Amino acid sequence: MAVTSAGLHWEKVGTALAQCLSLCKVGAQAVVYFPSPPYNGGMAKTKPTKRPRLRKLAEARLPTRFGFFRVLGFENTRRDWLVALVKGNPRRRAAPLVRIHSQCLTGDVFASARCDCRAQLELALARIGREGAGVILYEPEEGRGIGLINKLMAYQLQDRGMDTVEANQRLGFPADRRGYALSAAALRALGLTRIRLLSNNPDKVAALERAGIRVVERVPCQPAASRTLRGYLRAKKEKLGHLLKL
Ligand SMILES: [Zn+2]
Repeated sequence: MAVTSAGLHWEKVGTALAQCLSLCKVGAQAVVYFPSPPYNGGMAKTKPTKRPRLRKLAEARLPTRFGFFRVLGFENTRRDWLVALVKGNPRRRAAPLVRIHSQCLTGDVFASARCDCRAQLELALARIGREGAGVILYEPEEGRGIGLINKLMAYQLQDRGMDTVEANQRLGFPADRRGYALSAAALRALGLTRIRLLSNNPDKVAALERAGIRVVERVPCQPAASRTLRGYLRAKKEKLGHLLKL
């Protein structure tokens, strides 16, 4: 029997609700937010607006090696997701520290030494953990927005001598395909419109400013780099304009 995508989603909602109820039964302190009125399967009922609408669908506690955070799950009407790690109460800061991190399976999960993603993520977690308030936004933008499998194809080209920019372009993509509208929407949803951005990427600052987020300071995010990383970082600096000390 055919199952519609909306039907599949309702199955997920039902499963989540059952899990929540079972957690409540055992007395766990779980906080699950279900949107009201009932979630419509992610389908927009009204015309899309210029700024993407974002809904917080979940919020939970997340103790980490870098301290205690809250993890928030957001989704927009196109089912694009974004995760926010929130430390303390950033709204109480005049301009809290924020890191926008693009998902990198190979770096974040497998500790790949081809890129500095995991090192930057850990630096951001540690720095925001020390500050006591701030936000890390985790966006599904593998390979600067080209997707996981395309990124692996780009790695294959890099193994043959291309740099990270040349490889993306050979596959028919721009050097950097990311937009930050979703991150800007998440910041607004968190009540943050003035931030300090932990980043080496001036394009990210400009994109957030265009989206209505005031970046009062760019805070460098450059972990110590191994020799393996130097070529990659050089391409980021020379071809993508990242502000790196090499
Ligand atoms: Zn990476």
